[in-house]
Amino acid sequence: MARITNKKTRSFRSGKQTCKVCGCTDKFDFKVPNRLWKKVVPVKCQNKVVCLECFDELAFEKGVDYCDFIDVLYFAGDQATFKFQAVEAHRV
Ligand SMILES: [Zn+2]
Repeated sequence: MARITNKKTRSFRSGKQTCKVCGCTDKFDFKVPNRLWKKVVPVKCQNKVVCLECFDELAFEKGVDYCDFIDVLYFAGDQATFKFQAVEAHRV
C-alpha cells in the first residue's frame, strides 16, 4: 500500500488499496525513502501501490538491503488500525 508522495518518505493512507504487482488487497502500509523506492520498484509501478511482500521480493531480486529503512509498519483494518514498531531487523 505504499504510494508515491512528494515528501521524502511514503505517507500512510488508510483505506483499501490493491497492490499493482500481485493484485492483493493489502492492509499493511510502510514507509521507505524515495531513493530506495526507485531502486527497488520497477519504473512502471513506482507511482502505484506495492505491498510489503512484493517490495520484499523485488528487493531480493535486486539484492537491495532495505532492513534498516523500515522501522514502522501500519495496519489499516476494517475494525481497528495499528502502528507496529520494529524491534529487530535483519537481512536474511
Ligand atoms: Zn503485492
